[in-house]
Order: sequence, then structure tokens, then C-alpha cells
Amino acid sequence: MADSNMEKVQAKIAQLEQQLKTWAREYYENDAPSVEDAVYDQTYAELTQLAATYPELIGADSVTKQVGGKLLKPDLPEVEHPVPMLSLGDVFSIEALADWLKQTQANFDEQLAYNAELKIDGLAISLEYEAGQLKRASTRGDGRTGEDVTANVREIKAIPRQLNEAIDVEVRGEIYMPKASFVKLNEQREKEGLTTFANPRNAAAGSLRQLDVKITKERQLAAFLYHAVDAERTLGVETQADLLQRLTALGLPTNPSNAVLQTIDEIQAYISEQVVQREQLTYGIDGIVIKVNDLAAHDELGNTVKVPRWAIAYKFPPEEAETVVKAIEWTV
Ligand code: NAD
Repeated sequence: MADSNMEKVQAKIAQLEQQLKTWAREYYENDAPSVEDAVYDQTYAELTQLAATYPELIGADSVTKQVGGKLLKPDLPEVEHPVPMLSLGDVFSIEALADWLKQTQANFDEQLAYNAELKIDGLAISLEYEAGQLKRASTRGDGRTGEDVTANVREIKAIPRQLNEAIDVEVRGEIYMPKASFVKLNEQREKEGLTTFANPRNAAAGSLRQLDVKITKERQLAAFLYHAVDAERTLGVETQADLLQRLTALGLPTNPSNAVLQTIDEIQAYISEQVVQREQLTYGIDGIVIKVNDLAAHDELGNTVKVPRWAIAYKFPPEEAETVVKAIEWTV
């Protein structure tokens, strides 16, 4: 490519990186986004397309290689995640999802099964239990270092301080704010002349990352757990679907809407069903997560620096379409 063209691409990449970093700071660190997620996603997709064509122009500090945001609340102690808390790759159409299934299946001779789950619109949490007792809770942060929110999590009724078995396990999932609590909170804030939260996810994050745990208690947060570190060894399970059942048996809140599916047609039917059910839910979801069901296959597929290769998020189209600059094609 001619030098001047290359310079143009380089300048475009720098501009996209800078814009995305500014939005990510507002979103992850201040819990106060200034643009809709769809605008962020679309700009991010533009950058990943350029990154695929010109990988040599993408630095190690690119947003395409990082999870979440840096830490901003200096008074919340840091927690290291020896097993990083990752993000998820995403797709916006059934065709792209079908391609992902094909690519994933190509690594195996036997037909894979997938566990489909709702993508809960909250913030990721890690809960460490020792001998069945909740010892520590932490946020994802940048994936490797999160914030210690143990005192806050102890105020969330849905999260047990003690499991039904005296085992050591680190479970991960999502803390969310139910739709009704979100509406009530914003109404109250408006009355008090305070800024309102942009969405339930930012409200949940802002309510959890608090020095004053009374605030967390008042905000009525809830949780769903869907992952355990080294689940095969610590919990004796072989599939993602069994893991969810095991977490439920331990007394942890799990989402009941998962299904084990095989073909893209089955997955598409599940997605269509969830799109219809979505309005009735008392909490927000922003997509469907498709995970390879066999946990041994997770180990074989591994992760990139940012996402696991054994899972993908199918994102729903935005609810307020007019805020999207250009239309992205969604097919369900
Ligand atoms: P993400 O929210 O798209 O997906 C990854 C996360 O999904 C996981 O870390 C996990 O916490 C969560 N999740 C929910 N249900 C799950 C389930 N059943 N199984 C597994 N994981 C589940 O990725 P992200 O890196 O947290 O954030 C990217 C999102 O944040 C994008 O949607 C983007 O639009 C938004 N964002 C918006 C802005 C903005 O300015 N509006 C800025 C930055 C990021």
C-alpha cells in the first residue's frame, strides 16, 4: 500500500482508539457513559475490522486487546485475579454466529453441544468461598486486577455468605439491578436533583463500587452466577449445564433460562424465543451467550488475551435505534 494511504489508516486507527478509550473511561471508571452502547460497539467493530487487515498497526495497549477499564476508586483495595476475568467476543447477526459455530466445530471430530444462556446486563463479579464461607468478592477491573467489594457484596441478599457445602471455590457471575429498582432509584435521584444513571448496568456498577456499604444495601442489587474457576476439579462437573445445576445446589442464584442446543437452527429458535420473553423479565439482558457445553473443550480451545474461544455473545439490536449512527444488520 502507498505510504500516504498507510498514514491515513494509521491516523484513523489512532482516532478510533482515542475515542473508544475516552468512552471506556466514562463507562467503566465513572459508571457514566455519554453514548449508547450501540455507538460504542459500532466504533469498536470499525476498529477490529482495521485491526484484522492491518495487525501490524495495532499496539499492545489497543482497546481491542484490553478488558474493561483501569481502577479509579483508590480507596477500594486491589485484588489480583490469577485466572483473568475476561470479556466475551460478540456477533450481531445469525450469519456471524453460524460462522463462529463452524470455526469452533472445526477443532473437533465429534459434534459439539452448546449451552445457551441469557446475557445479563450487569457487571462481572468474582466470589471466593473458603470452606463454604464467602471470604472475598471482587470486580473484574482490567481483568487482572479488580476492586475488593467484599463488604458491599455482603449486603446483597441474593448472595449467600455460606454455601451448602464446606468447599473452596471461586465462582463468577453478574451483579445486576432489577428494572424496578432502577426506575425507583432514578426517580428518587431526579427528585433530589442528582444526575440519573444511564442504564441498569451503570447503576449496578455505581451502587456496588461504594465505600459506604449502606448505599449498596439500599440499592437492592441481585446476582446470577454462571462460572467457576477450574470447575471440573473443584466441583466435579463436566459440562456448563451441569455446572449451573451444581451452583444452584450450592445455594447460589443461577438463571433458569439456559438450554443445551446443537444446531444453528436450534440456537436461532432459542434466540427468537428469548427476544419475545425479554420484556417480561424483571432484569435487563443485552444478548445471548453461547458456550461450548463440554468443559474439557474449554481447556482445549483456551482464550485470547481478551476473550475465551469457547463462548460468544450474540448481542441484541439496540432498543433506541435512532441513536445509532449507521445501521448494523441484525437478523433476528
Ligand atoms: P460485554 O458486556 O459485551 O460482555 C462480557 C461480559 O458479559 C462478561 O464479562 C460478563 O460479565 C457478562 N455476562 C453476562 N451474562 C453472562 C453469561 N451468561 N455468561 C458469561 N458472561 C456473561 O463486554 P464488556 O467487555 O464487559 O463490555 C463491553 C460492553 O460495554 C459493550 O456492550 C459496550 O457497548 C459496552 N461499553 C459501552 C461504552 C459506552 O460508552 N456506552 C463504553 C465501553 C463499553
